[in-house]
Amino acid sequence: MDKKEIQTILEEAMEKGREAIPYGEVASYIPELSKADKNHLGLCIYTKDGRRYSIGDTNVRFTIQSISKIITLAVALESYGFDEVFEKVDVEPSGEAFNSLIDLDLSSNKPLNPMINSGALTVSSMLLPKVTFSEMKLFAKKLCMDPDMELDKDVYNSEKANISRNRAIAYLLESKGIIENDVEDTLDLYTKMCSLTVTAESLANLGLILANDGIDPTTGTRLLKTETVHTIKTIMLTCGMYDSSGEFAVYVGIPTKSGVGGGLVSTVDKEMGIGVFSPALDEKGNCIAGRPLLEHLSKKLRLHIFDRSSKMDIE
Ligand code: GLU
Repeated sequence: MDKKEIQTILEEAMEKGREAIPYGEVASYIPELSKADKNHLGLCIYTKDGRRYSIGDTNVRFTIQSISKIITLAVALESYGFDEVFEKVDVEPSGEAFNSLIDLDLSSNKPLNPMINSGALTVSSMLLPKVTFSEMKLFAKKLCMDPDMELDKDVYNSEKANISRNRAIAYLLESKGIIENDVEDTLDLYTKMCSLTVTAESLANLGLILANDGIDPTTGTRLLKTETVHTIKTIMLTCGMYDSSGEFAVYVGIPTKSGVGGGLVSTVDKEMGIGVFSPALDEKGNCIAGRPLLEHLSKKLRLHIFDRSSKMDIE
């Protein structure tokens, strides 16, 4: 495929995404997020061999939100090992909303997976004795190759002022003996991680490092162990898009994690990272432009995990 063909496919994908935007809404349960411009759309692709494609609003800063769950999980897996982490949180798709506590209360004694709020709160709590927020931020900056990443204080304060549901989940977890460290400190670390700022470019970098087995391709530095990266990518595929993860896996087939700030990070194994930003969300809390946009890329460039014959190689 030549450069022009690739560019055409990327523009078509942007168009598919743009067509979906009117059907979505920006998140408002965190009031500060409702200030986002619904019409923003950015797509960024960074390949392992150094090619960079950026279209649209790829420099606009927004909060990482649930995409930070990948980072906290990675740090927990490396600090405690798999057994200790998965003793507290399962790895099963939930089929429930991201902030649900029904399964946790009625049928399960541990969170179903680390990508829903109950799971991420559990993982955040485990991290409290091991790392500070500043250390986590520093590591997130490295994983996203984003030195400008900061805490968005307005979003952080806005979420902290409207945190009843996560607080309910966290205290339920404490009552079940799953959260063993301070609940309020747990909520604070979790919310701070969600309030870190990124761009579509930083998310493409994160996706690229995951595609590259945890190694920063620009410096050759290993940031995460192979087994951590395998696990993260598997959980992204099975649980990364909340209760539309199954459908997303069928039609797009690229491990992806969403955040209610409108970001998506996707990782095409051994090949590329993709960052998408569009704050209009569907009813599941995923960026509504993401599915048609990434489905188009997946089909045209053959990026589906079971249909990998990438067309991105330039002839
Ligand atoms: N901070 C958000 C919350 O806990 C993250 C949710 C998301 O991005 O899906 O509700």
